[in-house]
Amino acid sequence: MKNSPSGRKKEKKPKNRIVADSGPPPNFIRDIIEKDLKDNKNEGRVHTRFPPEPNGYLHIGHAKSICLNFGLAAEYRGLCNLRFDDTNPSKEEVEYVESIKYDVRWLGFDWENREYYASDYFEQLYQYAIQLIKGGKAYVCSLSADEIREYRGTLTEPGKDSPYRERSIEESLDMFVCMRKGEFPDGSHVLRAKIDMASPNLNMRDPVIYRIMKASHHRTGDKWCIYPMYDFAHGLSDSIEGITHSICTLEFEDHRPLYDWFLDQLDVFHSQQIEFARLNLGYTVMSKRKLLGLVEEGFMTGWDDPRMPTISGLRRRGYTPESIRDFCERIGVAKKESTVDITLLEHCLREDLNQRAPRVMAVLRPLRLVIDNYPERKMEELDAVNNPEDSSMGSRKIPFSRVLYIEREDFREIPPKKWFRLSPGSEVRLKHAYYITCGDVVKENQTGEIIELHCTYDPESRGGWTKDERKVKGTLHWVSAAHSLKTEVRLYDHLFSKADPDNVEEGSDFKTFLNPNSSETLTSCRIEQSLKNAKPGSRYQFMRQGYFCVDSVDSSHDTLVFNRTATLRDTWAKIEKAQKKTEK
Ligand code: ATP
Ligand code: MG
Repeated sequence: MKNSPSGRKKEKKPKNRIVADSGPPPNFIRDIIEKDLKDNKNEGRVHTRFPPEPNGYLHIGHAKSICLNFGLAAEYRGLCNLRFDDTNPSKEEVEYVESIKYDVRWLGFDWENREYYASDYFEQLYQYAIQLIKGGKAYVCSLSADEIREYRGTLTEPGKDSPYRERSIEESLDMFVCMRKGEFPDGSHVLRAKIDMASPNLNMRDPVIYRIMKASHHRTGDKWCIYPMYDFAHGLSDSIEGITHSICTLEFEDHRPLYDWFLDQLDVFHSQQIEFARLNLGYTVMSKRKLLGLVEEGFMTGWDDPRMPTISGLRRRGYTPESIRDFCERIGVAKKESTVDITLLEHCLREDLNQRAPRVMAVLRPLRLVIDNYPERKMEELDAVNNPEDSSMGSRKIPFSRVLYIEREDFREIPPKKWFRLSPGSEVRLKHAYYITCGDVVKENQTGEIIELHCTYDPESRGGWTKDERKVKGTLHWVSAAHSLKTEVRLYDHLFSKADPDNVEEGSDFKTFLNPNSSETLTSCRIEQSLKNAKPGSRYQFMRQGYFCVDSVDSSHDTLVFNRTATLRDTWAKIEKAQKKTEK
């Protein structure tokens, strides 16, 4: 990160809230619920669900849906179920189920005993399908998948009826029972709803509701060889659970007539589907398929790679659940697609960590500094406050001695104009310690690389202040060489170098826009020894550097590894300030 020329960072920053004067962000679903409650619809019940398909890890887009569903239920003293939409046995795994539960809990939400699986309803769904067949509302079709597609028509042309559309109820019933018994090979027959092949909505052109798939399911094993399609299973699962408001993303808007059709044909509770715009975030991708590709092809170290937009990646990076919830609240809920600036997410994080992260000193690229007039064997302990934002966090002692490390970039042999950090002959303050003045510069003979600085200190300036109130403009962080720990620090940047990596021309691959500099590892960093027993996952502000979190995977007893969560530079605050100016 770049520091101000003075090398100083003001620690007290004004609070910048995106919605400071404009009330809570818009959420049209709240308005719908308020109206339903007024009309006493569903006897005043509010019951939502979060319905992940266990085919990958959750990402920040899911967090929006989780906050929305659990948040609305809590707000209206309703309930929110966790339901695994596990109707596709081929892509689903137990590992994903466990990770999803962990992430939802970590975000701070509780489904109590309402952990459901669409697969728990397979028998019930099968009975519903039988009812549809008996009512002449569904038939077994023996066209191949390709033929079904051909017969389906296009947006401009109506579809054609399947030759099996008029199959008798008895025959369809008999065949469907045999499908269940496993008497037919995969793909030979499907069950289709009998709606309207000429409907302008393609979803209504006799959609498939059951297919044969001889695959083991992570919960039902080999009990079933026919599996219901999403549209059929989803709405009916909502109905079985008595869900009042079934909130989903906009791409399901065209499926709503079908959602309603199934519930209307059967004598069941009618849930209401409401669509909202999904979260899109700049400089990243959000589809589980794409994220899985990045993991499987080795571009990422795993689903929890700290660069991933997954909840597990954000957690490992150092994000707090509070900052993610705050972000989800601030972006609001709308019907119109948009992309949220990633700097807003970082802004929410900084606001949270500014309050709670202890300040410590760490030198990322060390340069040795010897204080010539400081006694060789002396060591003194200086007081350092842990967080100027919160006096209850107290203070600690930090050791000072003759040999220190400072940040290599805080020294310039030939200083540019307005350089307030260290250079030959200049005086600066060492944070919490003393004033020092720079003398000789030692270089490596062959390469000319600067390897050591010699300085003198003013013994009268203990604590960083002098009696004569002599002013210096630069304050540097430092650690004592003998009393600091070697550590590894990983710096991260945006995953993609393109703001909208999803937006690629046909034939090209979103992966070509991966940012080659999204990760940089520094292996010879030094941290103050107070961090010796820092716990995995704990977060700190490295003064003048940013927020960092102890990596919970790669840290060992001997060497801590830190992930940079965010720099201190708050781009969003600037954007917001500029916005406010233009509004005036
Ligand atoms: P992806 O497209 O990333 O693979 P998905 O929609 O297939 O996601 P599901 O497991 O089906 O993933 O999603 C569970 C819930 O989360 C759904 O209700 C879905 O609408 C919602 N959701 C998924 N992605 C987003 C997003 N980007 N913003 C808001 N909600 C989302
Ligand atoms: Mg989905």
